[in-house]
Amino acid sequence: MKTALWLFTITAILTTHALAQSPVKDHGLLRIEGATIVDRNGDDISLAGNSLFWSQWDQSGFWNEDCLKWLVKDWGTSVVRIPMGIENKGGYLDQPGENESKVRAMVDAGIRLGIYVIIDWHSHHAEDSTEQAVDFFARMAKDYGHHDHVIYEIYNEPKDSQWPDIKIYAEKVIAVIRKNDPDNLIIVGSGEWSQRVDDPAESPITKWPNIAYTLHFYSKMHHQWLRDRAEAAMEKGIALFVTEWGPVGTADRDTETEKWMAWCRTHNISHCAWAVNDKDEPWSIVRKGANPGGGWSIDALTPAGRLEKAIISSWGEDTSIDGEQSDAPKP
Ligand code: MG
Repeated sequence: MKTALWLFTITAILTTHALAQSPVKDHGLLRIEGATIVDRNGDDISLAGNSLFWSQWDQSGFWNEDCLKWLVKDWGTSVVRIPMGIENKGGYLDQPGENESKVRAMVDAGIRLGIYVIIDWHSHHAEDSTEQAVDFFARMAKDYGHHDHVIYEIYNEPKDSQWPDIKIYAEKVIAVIRKNDPDNLIIVGSGEWSQRVDDPAESPITKWPNIAYTLHFYSKMHHQWLRDRAEAAMEKGIALFVTEWGPVGTADRDTETEKWMAWCRTHNISHCAWAVNDKDEPWSIVRKGANPGGGWSIDALTPAGRLEKAIISSWGEDTSIDGEQSDAPKP
């Protein structure tokens, strides 16, 4: 009995300590210097974490605080992306109140856990709902803009849109965010599922500070050509954030993912893996029937889940470009 109590006390102290050393406590508000995302001290920072699945299609209920807590504790996740579906049935345009409540609950959970949270307007045609996006992000910025944790991703993946139109949409949304929140990071998508980062590199948004651009990749189809394009964009001066990526998903090792991760490491690029879900597709991190509240054994993870856990849980051990071990505790 005494031993049990002792173990309980030790566990409680360690848990409290782990949360006290949260990524946001350590690094504070992120901002952009040149083409690099840096922390409050001006040090380069690269976060590693997960993306949840579409808000309206989270059938098994992974949008909950226990699940996020598990990812933080067991995987070392330092950033979570919260993708609010917009266009499809059950999405924000269809059921705004329900979707917004879900987003707020997960943002609040992320803040309590001390990690970075990305509020993602998960749309392929966001210009068609500019008015709703402006209204939504104005409220988000007002309510959450004082939290260092919060990052706004205002357009997930433009599909058929060209950069000039995307830019017009983005500037309208950014203007209302900046009215209420002068500083938190804002991430903007680009054409062809956020692969045309060369377009904003030619014509970036310059009216406000701390604007980054999302780069999405899936290792099965996106290879060196996309890394080359992204590198050229950074050389022109824009900062990138991989808010969504996925491995081939059929094996524990994936050489193209290894190349991508080495590349992210070299350029100090943050990334979120798609997706916390049990749907029967290669990118889901857990198998059908896994507890939506976490506590997953290795057998509950899919090949993608095992590979991503290995990447994310070791990411904080080496956060600098030259490979020097960081003094800071692992996020
Ligand atoms: Mg702020």
